[in-house]
Parts: sequence; structure tokens; C-alpha cells
Amino acid sequence: MNRRYFLSTTSCLLLPPGASYPACTRGPAPPFAYPDLDAAAARPVLRRDLFPDPVTIESVELLRYEDNFLCRVRTTDGAEGLSVSNNYQMVYLYPIQVLRINPYFVGKDARDLDALIDGVYTHMSNYKLQSLALWVPLATVEFALLDLLGKLADKPIGELLCDRIYQPKIAVYQANNNRGRSAEESLANIQETVARTGARAVKFKVAGRMLDAEAPAGRSERLIPMVRKAFGEEMTIYADANGGYEPEEAVRIGRLMAEYGYGFYEEPIAFDRYQELKDIAGRFNVPLAGGEQEPSFYNFRYLIGEGVLDVVQPDIFYYGGMIRSMRVARMAAAAGKICVPHISGSGLGFLYMAHFVSALENAGPYHEFKENTRELPYDCPTSSMTVTDGTLKVPTGPGAGVVVEPDFIRRHALVTG
Ligand SMILES: [Mg+2]
Repeated sequence: MNRRYFLSTTSCLLLPPGASYPACTRGPAPPFAYPDLDAAAARPVLRRDLFPDPVTIESVELLRYEDNFLCRVRTTDGAEGLSVSNNYQMVYLYPIQVLRINPYFVGKDARDLDALIDGVYTHMSNYKLQSLALWVPLATVEFALLDLLGKLADKPIGELLCDRIYQPKIAVYQANNNRGRSAEESLANIQETVARTGARAVKFKVAGRMLDAEAPAGRSERLIPMVRKAFGEEMTIYADANGGYEPEEAVRIGRLMAEYGYGFYEEPIAFDRYQELKDIAGRFNVPLAGGEQEPSFYNFRYLIGEGVLDVVQPDIFYYGGMIRSMRVARMAAAAGKICVPHISGSGLGFLYMAHFVSALENAGPYHEFKENTRELPYDCPTSSMTVTDGTLKVPTGPGAGVVVEPDFIRRHALVTG
């Protein structure tokens, strides 16, 4: 495929005549043909051709040690897969996983994973729980099954989801949250993290979260030009409002970002104000990003089909795993848009995100990396799992490509409900 995506690194570095800063323009204009999006989303994700024989799931277990949750899956042939959950959410959600998700998978053929992900949605009317309550537990099972399948096929997870690995290395942007601090102090922090990691892209927070008052007042308006002036034209700069503006204010701030060549503008207004988002989307010339809170396939389809989002950001935990997220990324690709998945903290979230990004044909130029605190004891023979010169090498070992320390696993106990 030679399709070109609008937000390549180079397209953001072209200076239009008379402009002081690089221009990042919005993506291809709508309307997009919904049948094209539907065809993209309907393509099988898991490469079933890699598995000639049935992979019958014998058990799906949730294990807990303090506030750490592991999911272990086993087949009738003795194969095993393991995932680390999103622990921040799972401390509240584990009964849903144990009582409503895990039993559905027992006895099923893991090669049918695409269909199983859809089947569990209607099982026990689980769709009524749609959003983190359903999707985080489901993603936890899916990642364990992908680990198992990867080990069976002797391939990393990314290779199970695409025809080839598109990103063996991932360039990262440095995310910063300095809400509550002055523009000067925020900039100093951003400069410090960039100097430490070598990142060539940054993202920082503007506005107050979900209409909270901004603190200190006027911080964002000062910071937007300051960050550009401090880093110059070469730096890719993103800003995230976390749904912090009313629509008219969002437009005003978006135009300021356009003036300073921002790479994308994330969640300018609350994520579920869909009609208003569509109304304001064309009123500033900065790529519009969103999707980290989005639980619904059909809402993503609308946001892509109506040309609202230029950058789709499903969170692979919050949105129910890589298969569902890949369908969104493929719809975006069919509309010439890019995918920059959101990463939720804790556990191995950044590892799963790296595998997912490695399989994306329309990945954005930079991806979020939450710093690896090594709170979880594991070994990764094929990657340092640290950012060097602004990039992270995706592990190439089978499955998730990591070995969680056996002593640590043994400390966990089975969760029964
Ligand atoms: Mg965000």
C-alpha cells in the first residue's frame, strides 16, 4: 500500500509562504463513504491462517496479589498465556471479569477471537456495561489469549494482527501534566523531560479537566506560544484539553494553536458532545484528536465518517482490546486518518500499546510513553523497554515478549468473585 497519510512528520514541517511556524492541517475532508469504513472494519483482525489446529481454551483465571491483577489462560493442550491488567480500574471491576467475562471463553476456540470479542458483548447482556466496566476486563482476557497465541505461533503479538510489522520501533512523545502550575513552571518541566528523554515531540495539558476552572487563569493562552518559541520549528507539539472547554472557547484556543503550528488538539470539549464537536471541528486548522473515553464502535464510526476526528485514539484497555481498536484504526485508514492509541497507566499498558502500534498501517508519527517504573518484575530479552533517543524498540519475542518473574506470579491468589 502506498497510501499517504496527511500527518506524516514531513507534512508538519513544511512552511507555507509567509508563515512563521510549521503548518499541520486537518485531514482529508468528508464525507467519507460509510460502506468503505464498514468494509475496513469487517476485515478479520486475528491471522487465523497461523493456527492450523484448534486452540481450545480450558481455563481463564484472574489472579490477585495486593492490587495487582494477572489473567492466566490455558488450553487443553497445556499452552499458557498471561496478561497484566489495568490495575487502577481492575480493583473495582474484578467481579465483572470473574463472573461475566471469563466463563464465556472456557471451551471456546481461541482462533475465533474476533467473533468471541463480539459474542461476549451480548452474553449475559454485557452490552449494558459498555465502557470501562466491560472493556477493561475483556481487554485483560484478550491480551492473555494473544500472549498464548503468539507463543503458539512463535510470533510477537503485533504479527498476529497484520500482514507485516509496520513499526519495529516507535517514536514517542513526552507527555506532561502541569495543570495548576504557572506557564513558566510548566515550560521548565516540559524542557526538563525533553532533555532527559530526547523526545522530538511533546504533549501538554491545557484548560481545566472537564470544565474545571483553569489554574492559574490564562495559563493555556500563555503557554501555547511559549512552548513553540522555546522548542522552535522542528518540535512536534500536541495539546490536550481533556474536555475542558465550552465550544466557542475551544475554537478560540484551537485558532491559537493553528497560529503556532500545533500537531493536534485533543479533546477540546467533552468527548460525548458529538454534535457540537462536529460543529466546531472545521473552525480551526489543527488536526482534531480524540477517542480515549470512547466506548462505542458506532460512535467512532460516526466521528470518522463525518470527518470530525483526524486522529483516533482508542485506549486498548478502555476500548476492549486490540481487535476492537484495530477495527477503529482501519476505519480511520479508509478515511486517510491516523491512529495514535491512548495509553492508560499501570502494569504493562505501554507494552501492549507498543505491540498494537507495531501492527498499525496508519500509525501517527509519535506515540505516548508513560514512563516505565519497573514496579512490576519482568524480563524482556528483546528490548530494553526504555526510550533511547526518542524511540522504543518493540519486543520481538513470542507473545507479549516478556517473562513475568515466576516468584511474583506465585504470590497471587485466584479471584473467585
Ligand atoms: Mg488525553
